[in-house]
Amino acid sequence: MFVEPSLHIGKSSERKGQIEVICGSMFSGKTEELIRRLNRARIARLKVEIFKPSVDKRYHEQDVVSHNETSIRSTPVNFAGDILLLSGDCDVVGIDEAQFFDQELVRVSQILANQGKRVILAGLDMDFEGKPFEPMPTLMAIAEYVTKVHAICMKCGDLAAFSYRLSASKEKVVLGEKDSYEARCRNCYKEERT
Ligand SMILES: [Zn+2]
Repeated sequence: MFVEPSLHIGKSSERKGQIEVICGSMFSGKTEELIRRLNRARIARLKVEIFKPSVDKRYHEQDVVSHNETSIRSTPVNFAGDILLLSGDCDVVGIDEAQFFDQELVRVSQILANQGKRVILAGLDMDFEGKPFEPMPTLMAIAEYVTKVHAICMKCGDLAAFSYRLSASKEKVVLGEKDSYEARCRNCYKEERT
């Protein structure tokens, strides 16, 4: 489990920022891990802001909601640049569903971290075809800390890193029902994709 190297007590102007990435397939607990870290930062009396792309309207407008229903209030934004305007003087910036932003999120994350903020991004590292899902790979490269979380393969019960799409749609992003996807290990994913 990820343990914060330091909670950086002190004024944000005096402190070093950092970028943390939480990645994995669907059902891997990325959002739960993001919420866990943000809640711990709050307990440390740090000012926390949470953003998500407004494209993700699956659940409640204002909440980062994970599949196990633990939730935390968040601000939906249209563009990564909006996060710069809205994060103000907060100490910790949480960003959920980071894969739905464009490459601008990389620049935004660097600026925030260089301002002394702790930036925690959660997102899918691969799309349903098993291909790297930008901007996640680039964010992982520039991050100080990367945590890959795993789901459980719904076929065989092994650890799963792939998101298998049950429907025939070829769109990169099919939002909505978690019923459209299942987690798969490498072998079960390979078997069904060929
Ligand atoms: Zn499997």
